Amino acid sequence: ISSLAQSDPQVAQMLGRELGRQRTHIELIASENFASPAVMAAQGSVLTNKYAEGLPGKRYYGGCEFIDEVESLAIDRAKQIFGAAHANVQPHSGAQANFAVFLALLKPGDTIMGMDLSHGGHLTHGSPVNVSGKWFKVVQYGVNQQTEQIDFEQVRALALEHKPKMIICGYSAYPRKIDFDRFRAIADQVGAYLMADIAHIAGLVATGNHPNPVPICDVVTTTTHKTLRGPRGGLILTRDPDLGKKFDKGVFPGSQGGPLEHVIAAKAVAFGEALQPEFKDYSAQVIANAQAMGTRLQERGFKLVSDGTDNHLILVDLRSIGMTGKIADRLVSDVQITANKNTVPFDPESPFVTSGLRLGSPAMTTRGMGTEEFKEIANIIADRLLNPEDESIKAQCQQRVAALCERFPLYENLYAGTDQ
Ligand code: PLP
Repeated sequence: ISSLAQSDPQVAQMLGRELGRQRTHIELIASENFASPAVMAAQGSVLTNKYAEGLPGKRYYGGCEFIDEVESLAIDRAKQIFGAAHANVQPHSGAQANFAVFLALLKPGDTIMGMDLSHGGHLTHGSPVNVSGKWFKVVQYGVNQQTEQIDFEQVRALALEHKPKMIICGYSAYPRKIDFDRFRAIADQVGAYLMADIAHIAGLVATGNHPNPVPICDVVTTTTHKTLRGPRGGLILTRDPDLGKKFDKGVFPGSQGGPLEHVIAAKAVAFGEALQPEFKDYSAQVIANAQAMGTRLQERGFKLVSDGTDNHLILVDLRSIGMTGKIADRLVSDVQITANKNTVPFDPESPFVTSGLRLGSPAMTTRGMGTEEFKEIANIIADRLLNPEDESIKAQCQQRVAALCERFPLYENLYAGTDQ
């Protein structure tokens, strides 16, 4: 980075400012984390320079002997973590992984079933603005209005009525455990492929803190940068080697060209980290911290979607205090807390306004915070949201955020010389 400061001070200063932001803010975006310096070193390595279309041992380019070692290691570690028979580590992102699977198993016009975006599903699971919604007939399921948990009666009824070719489970804003066996039973009843997208919970699955869908589903996709704490990227896993070959083709040449081998090296590093005992502790702490934050918010009068959490995120239903997600997002960001507005199930507000605030624990858990700190974070959020006009409380909240950030330093000495 110091050579970057010399060759391009403009960009180096921008990176320095971003580092400063990350150090001084409480990061609660549920899909974000802090990758280790080792992960970032691999990503910023000489592997940036190499073309390697194909797979280890079967490349279209020369000079791939070391690249092959790196990619094979990433594949082996991914298989080991998740107990998969086959892994493809090349998808550039979670969306790319999902698209490659669709290309391998579906044809335009087929019917897919996924969770409604406004109930916690992802864009790539059939939203009309995404290719998944443009190419396929989409049937969306949701949560039960009372329990705010997956409505399996509805899933079964919709599956029997529409006979989808694929059922997708796995979400972006769902705080509860996913019962993959119940989805399997429904998929089998209608002869559908079952796909789990564990982008959000992969780090919890990796350590046994959430049930593993790999032995149950036909295919499992994930990102590598959320709870799994690796570089930004995607991953496809399956228990079925024949399907695995189809997914390999769906990635390349189906939907991608040259793989990002520097990112794949960083995936290998992150997978190595996920196999260490400390990662298990981190993963259990992620859940304990989300629960501590959620319980304190409930004690302060906030309603949580589904009344709690089993994983790394909570969804605050702000209708309980008569506020929108848009306003809450701005109020917490004024005191250096980064979160995101989010629809809640059956939300009366538009997706640009929303009635919810999604809060996740992975990033600040990585930073070393425990349940006491997460209770303090919940108290800061409650103080701010319950007193939106009070400038002195706002200033106090800012000081309390600064004090927490100082106690848990981030990336010490990493970009020395470029800090603002
Ligand atoms: N799947 C789920 C469930 C997600 O939450 C996300 C990202 O938020 C993705 C897929 C897409 O991942 P990416 O942003 O890497 O394309």
